[in-house]
Amino acid sequence: MTAEMTEKNRPGKDWPAILLSWFDRNKRDLPWREDKPRNPYHVWISEIMLQQTRTEAVKPYFNSWMERFPTIHDLACADEADVLHQWQGLGYYTRARNIYRAAKEMEDHYGGKLPKDKEEILSLPGIGGYTAGAILSMAYGKKEGAIDGNVLRVYARLYCVEEDILKTGGRKIIESLVKDTLPDRAGDFNEALMDLGAEICIPRSPRCESCPLLPRCRAFYEGKEKELPKRTPKKPQKEEEAACAIIVKDGKVLLHKRPSRGMLASMWEFPMALSGGAEEAKKKLEAALSGKAGDCLWQYRHVFTHRIWHMKAYRMEDCRVPEGEYGWFAPDEYREFPLAGPHARLAAFVEQMIR
Ligand code: SF4
Repeated sequence: MTAEMTEKNRPGKDWPAILLSWFDRNKRDLPWREDKPRNPYHVWISEIMLQQTRTEAVKPYFNSWMERFPTIHDLACADEADVLHQWQGLGYYTRARNIYRAAKEMEDHYGGKLPKDKEEILSLPGIGGYTAGAILSMAYGKKEGAIDGNVLRVYARLYCVEEDILKTGGRKIIESLVKDTLPDRAGDFNEALMDLGAEICIPRSPRCESCPLLPRCRAFYEGKEKELPKRTPKKPQKEEEAACAIIVKDGKVLLHKRPSRGMLASMWEFPMALSGGAEEAKKKLEAALSGKAGDCLWQYRHVFTHRIWHMKAYRMEDCRVPEGEYGWFAPDEYREFPLAGPHARLAAFVEQMIR
């Protein structure tokens, strides 16, 4: 460590080179990193899948996605239901819908390829600044940053940024630091930050003893590595009771297709009613189906980003099928459908029950 590094001028200017040399020795083997040169389509799909989902969990989804849709052209020509079915289990289905819409736009306007121009790539559905930066830097060798939660956290600690990094002011500080520190190997640098943030500079208890940047880190120097980054507490999630109906007839169950807009759009579910209380939800369900709910056979608590469903599923008989898009399906038929979030879990339970 140089003498001047004992002062508060950390992290200095040479840390990107230190990080890159660490990355060259330690980078993770991931399926989407195997191509040389990197395939922009692979970078795009992996980056979208990795939002909100752990790397280990993404690997099998990525591999089976690429088997099913090897190119953007294959994806653009597929049915939306098939795309959603491939996505099933990853959650946040808007991502899959946007991928599908973006593939169609690329097929129509960009010869089935991801554009190289930043403005064009940013105009595609579901591609924001982070994903555009990742694709442009990793697949097209452009000097662009890719700022996600990992990058915000690492920079907040390295530079001891005390502002809330999820608010505009804090984010602007980090954006300007990223701009000033981005080296020529921007793609590798972005991935090195992702690896560091995923494995070492992790959220609650950073593993500073294994960190290549420890001698440069200002938060570590000031003993603040666990208190940074600062965040304003989030609003509590909305909690709802969800009453679901299991209605079986001749080995088939009644399912409902959700509306084409809004949460879990166009996905299939067991008939369901939502309310603030469990009894009201059950009564609402009975009224909608003109039937009586029997014993509760299944319970589950499903956590979305902004809400929580406390689900209860009741066996129901002698019901009237309401107006709307309903259908009777056997398990091997509904297994091919995109089922709405926790309803896939309920479907697996029902399958055991009627087998
Ligand atoms: S020394 Fe600790 S806090 Fe600083 S960058 Fe490394 S892991 Fe993060």
